[in-house]
Amino acid sequence: RENLQHLLPDLKEDEPLAVISIQDVSILKEADRVKDEFIAIAAHELRTPLAILSGFAQTLLVQTARGHGPPLEDWQHEALDGIEQSSSRMAELIADLLDITRLQAGQLKFRPEAFDVVALVERVVKRMQMTTTTHQLQLQKNAESMVIDADPRRVEQILTNMIANAIKYSPGQKSVSIRVTKDESDYDALIAVQDYGIGIPENQWSRVFSRFERGDNARAYGIGGTGLGLYLCQELVERQGGRIWFTSTEGKGSTFYISLPGKSPLS
Ligand code: ADP
Repeated sequence: RENLQHLLPDLKEDEPLAVISIQDVSILKEADRVKDEFIAIAAHELRTPLAILSGFAQTLLVQTARGHGPPLEDWQHEALDGIEQSSSRMAELIADLLDITRLQAGQLKFRPEAFDVVALVERVVKRMQMTTTTHQLQLQKNAESMVIDADPRRVEQILTNMIANAIKYSPGQKSVSIRVTKDESDYDALIAVQDYGIGIPENQWSRVFSRFERGDNARAYGIGGTGLGLYLCQELVERQGGRIWFTSTEGKGSTFYISLPGKSPLS
């Protein structure tokens, strides 16, 4: 009211007042578009040199293991392993960026099919266990098999991301639990990934699934990330008719859940 006094000198103290604010968002939209286009181009251009880098590291490792050339010293082996691992992490990040661009352009493809989600979870847990020496992944299930209709590659991508986060955000802890169960409806598959790590501060709960958003405590702990993984997970789950949510206590840990319908709306 005080700010408007000079514009409306006749405005009385107790006169009812409504303020309507109109903002031109076309500049913001254009900035978003330019950002998305930049991401698409950068991700695309990074893919080839990265594949070459990781290809050379693999060739060196494989050829020396086959006895071609002089044997590698331990430190040389470690350095090559390091190059290999970092390039595959980077390749995953680039794949996420490209998925996001496709998502925004409405070009992300899903190939739903009937598959056993329990077997898929078992396979992902086994594979992820091989990537960590610090954490033990504990798997619980209440059914031997559960056939659902979804895109198995996308479900694997979502689960990989959830488990990788659980490991990453629980430094110093030893275990992560993964549960796959038939939901109460006896229709949906419910997957939960629980960690005992840093948790998410309550004032940031609402932003966890937004693009580029990262928890303050994640930064404070110096844990790297882009803030893209959960955004992509949410889109991938919801487009397949599922839901994603979490519970978390800062300093105690988090549990991320996804529920997937038995029948895909995309089929
Ligand atoms: P990134 O891990 O690359 O930062 P994500 O989109 O996967 O991006 O996660 C967004 C943010 O949510 C993270 O930066 C982190 O602050 C928080 N977060 C995600 N998973 C966990 C978890 N298991 N424990 C604690 N914080 C988490």
